[in-house]
Amino acid sequence: MRTVLITGASRGIGLAAARLFAKDGWQVLFCARHETEESRAFAKETSALFFPCDVGDEEDVRTMFASFGRTVHHLDALVLNAGASYHGLIQDMDAEAFDALYRTNLKSAFLCIREVLPGMIRRGSGSIVAVSSMWGQVGGSCESAYSAFKAGLIGFVKALAKEAGPSGVRVNCVCPGFIDTDMNRPLGQEVYDAMAEETPLGRVGTPEECARVIRFLCGEDAAFVTGQTLGVNGGLVV
Ligand code: NAP
Repeated sequence: MRTVLITGASRGIGLAAARLFAKDGWQVLFCARHETEESRAFAKETSALFFPCDVGDEEDVRTMFASFGRTVHHLDALVLNAGASYHGLIQDMDAEAFDALYRTNLKSAFLCIREVLPGMIRRGSGSIVAVSSMWGQVGGSCESAYSAFKAGLIGFVKALAKEAGPSGVRVNCVCPGFIDTDMNRPLGQEVYDAMAEETPLGRVGTPEECARVIRFLCGEDAAFVTGQTLGVNGGLVV
């Protein structure tokens, strides 16, 4: 049975991906800082295993991987999905908030990749997918720090694809556009309508639509795809 770890999967895009992998017969390991009712129900219905973990915290990440070691032999895929957004003028952002955003969106990728990569290299196969954002591609006003860390993920993926490709490990990036999840709901209907209007396909995206692209990149159908940045944005960024 193939195994995948999905970070930040208690809701939204991560949980949609977890459901899809489980449906396709993968052993799913997933984490977030807190469980939700939905994630608890999902774990109960499947053989998926939840681990509470702050992926920006080095000790927490080490502990999570140590517990995996007792449960699964290896990971075939890693989905770096955990993320948080911050809206506001950059001059109003304090350094603490900047650091917290960096830890969740970018340092977390480093911490998890460092744990997973040696095993993938030893086996000569594996797939890593990072969930960045269209703002990492083109920059979002009032989301400068978020855009910087999401752009950092894209650079990370491109470099690592070159570094790990000769060892049989693929590394790709998914860049969602405006997706209907808890991250955006506080923005309100007006913003939803404006984003839908700006989007060539005329609507916002769903977590399931992102999940299908993540699943594709982790599987055999993407066997010759690495170092790529794939938008799931309804044409908003082309
Ligand atoms: P969401 O609904 O807010 O879910 C975020 C998930 O990440 C939750 O499970 C959350 O659980 C977890 N998380 C946050 N901080 C964490 C941490 N430090 N350690 C572990 N888990 C953490 O967000 P989403 O919309 O599904 O977003 C998923 C990814 O897509 C993110 O990387 C986001 O930046 C990216 N993205 C989203 C959109 C969009 O329009 N929604 C667009 C572009 C990119 P806890 O809070 O319990 O930890």
